[in-house]
Amino acid sequence: MAKSKITNIEVKKNNRNRIYRYICKCKTVSNPDIAYALKLSLPTVLQNTKELLESGFIEEAGELRSTGGRRAKALSPAAGHRLALGLDITQNHIGMVLINLLGDILKYERTDHPYRNEKEYLTETSRRLEEFIEDSPAKRERILGLGISFPGIVDLQKKVISGSHVLDVKALPLSEISESFAYPCFFLNDANAGAYAEGIRSGETEPFFYLSLSNTVGGAVYQEGHLMQGKEFRCGEVGHMTVVPGGRLCYCKKSGCLDAYCSARCLSDLTDKKLEDFFSGLRQGEQRLVDAWEEYTDYLSIAVNNIHMVLDCDIILGGYVGSCLEEQIEEIRKKISARNTFSEDAGFVKPCRYKTGAAALGAALQVVETFIRQV
Ligand SMILES: [Zn+2]
Repeated sequence: MAKSKITNIEVKKNNRNRIYRYICKCKTVSNPDIAYALKLSLPTVLQNTKELLESGFIEEAGELRSTGGRRAKALSPAAGHRLALGLDITQNHIGMVLINLLGDILKYERTDHPYRNEKEYLTETSRRLEEFIEDSPAKRERILGLGISFPGIVDLQKKVISGSHVLDVKALPLSEISESFAYPCFFLNDANAGAYAEGIRSGETEPFFYLSLSNTVGGAVYQEGHLMQGKEFRCGEVGHMTVVPGGRLCYCKKSGCLDAYCSARCLSDLTDKKLEDFFSGLRQGEQRLVDAWEEYTDYLSIAVNNIHMVLDCDIILGGYVGSCLEEQIEEIRKKISARNTFSEDAGFVKPCRYKTGAAALGAALQVVETFIRQV
């Protein structure tokens, strides 16, 4: 008996969740349309939308145009019912984002704030975050939590940042970070955060690999709303795949890692640390930049082809470099295609859709998604 009772509760919860997600997806929809689309009875839908209206998750938005008969009430998600914050910690900057339940960006800011492995750094970060919220449409009591993207291995089981070469961090407990902030904190590795923004926002159903080409190189495997984490939470750390045995020194102290050939720094260091300047110089045909780009894409094509051989799924180029690639994507596809054993046209390689602040956005979206699962 007890078993069937639990099942009924689960079914009810599942229906409510599906209805809420469907309203979010449609933006404006009627009860009969929900019933039809989700194959639920109209009384079930009416009961659930009544509850969602009472708890403030959705609101009535007038009437829908009728195709005959009585006009149906329009229902819309109350996007600002709850809000989430995202924080992207990098070596030299922090990115802060505020989003609503639909994942719309209400405010984004990126400022210089070099990482320091000490308490004062976090205290100052928290102060800047409070300042950021102050002149935004956010009401503090509506904020669900803070998603933090960190450039290192985030071990969710042991609840530590188990390592970040680039920030020189070893075994930093997540609690030491979260105690500096006034909100419940959720942690994600930076490449995972970028992948999450790409996947969850587009409702991507096909698996894909997200190759993060920022000042460090990382990656993430996304499938059906989830990120593959790996046994030690290192899944997708392709920045440290060897591409040139005995090659350039990587910041991890090994030699020949992909990171040493494909980090954004390999390009931005040529134009006074400004990646935009690299790409504008490249467009103008500046020879030393053209040569550097040629070399960069040679190594990139090796990495992408290898990743694709293992996973056989779409590969999204993200991070700082991935955000600048729209014009160059065909040329990159050609190089990858030339390497590909199965003569594919490399259409599986795509530039990322979310460019500005993707890691901060992904971290905030994880907060929203964790909350929505409970609706
Ligand atoms: Zn390395």
